[in-house]
Amino acid sequence: MRFLFWLVLAVFFLAAFSVWLGWGRQGEWSVVSGWANISKPERDWADQSVAAYGDLENHPTLDWVGHATLLVEWGGKRLVTDPVNSCCVNVAPRLFAEPVLSDTEPLDAILLSHAHMDHLDNATLERLRPTRLFLPAGSERFLSDAVRTRHEVVLIQLWEPTQLGALEIISVPAQHGGWRYPWQKGLFACGYVVRHGDESLYIAGDTAAGAHFKEIRSRYAPRYTVLPIGAYSPEWFLRSRHLNPEEALDAAAQVGAEYVVPYHFGTFRLSLEPVDEPLRRFASKALQREQKWFLSM
Ligand SMILES: [Zn+2]
Ligand SMILES: [Zn+2]
Repeated sequence: MRFLFWLVLAVFFLAAFSVWLGWGRQGEWSVVSGWANISKPERDWADQSVAAYGDLENHPTLDWVGHATLLVEWGGKRLVTDPVNSCCVNVAPRLFAEPVLSDTEPLDAILLSHAHMDHLDNATLERLRPTRLFLPAGSERFLSDAVRTRHEVVLIQLWEPTQLGALEIISVPAQHGGWRYPWQKGLFACGYVVRHGDESLYIAGDTAAGAHFKEIRSRYAPRYTVLPIGAYSPEWFLRSRHLNPEEALDAAAQVGAEYVVPYHFGTFRLSLEPVDEPLRRFASKALQREQKWFLSM
């Protein structure tokens, strides 16, 4: 009888947890991510920002395809960051089906920031067209054999530049663990600066607040930046690993970026905040601070 009680209780909690994670309930990206719920003035501000952005002579095209996956087109090259197409990360399901990165997308490079499951996904990497795969030196141990043979693996060190046609790609520090499991040591997480002519784009990867933003500003003065805004609750645990939306805007100011694209939110439930909260908080504060930002799909 007692066994039956615990069994029923366990099944109940598992079912409740699955519902909370969002299993079986995919929705429209705009609703899931919070875009549909930001106020009209906030949306107008983003629309105004993107219109001004489009008028700039030398700017990258930045398309968000969920979580930390961003397609970058610049200087005749196509890059993608941390591609994750899979149905789930750990036990968390993908909360919207479209948009998603196509397996046949022509790519000149894949930029991986670190080995966490929501950034390095072998199942996705095994299907993408063969290309160059940049990742922090040491993290190659997490690549499957199929990924190693499919792509040209480029192991990077911090601050080391690599030329890719007209682009220069530099790995920059992040305030975040590089390990996949807590007992692994000697690994690092990074962001990337991509330079074309005299303009720079800073893609932060996973990061908490830190002195690296000012250092990146002093070296590259990026006009464009991509910053993570989600996975911050509970803050007592995650503040040393991730930015919340307001901290992301502080980071944008420290970097001196004119334009911000938010990412790392609204796709998988990886932490305790409501899935649509990061973008709502970000949009509200960005308008208050008159920080130009946009989200393009
Ligand atoms: Zn991470
Ligand atoms: Zn992450």
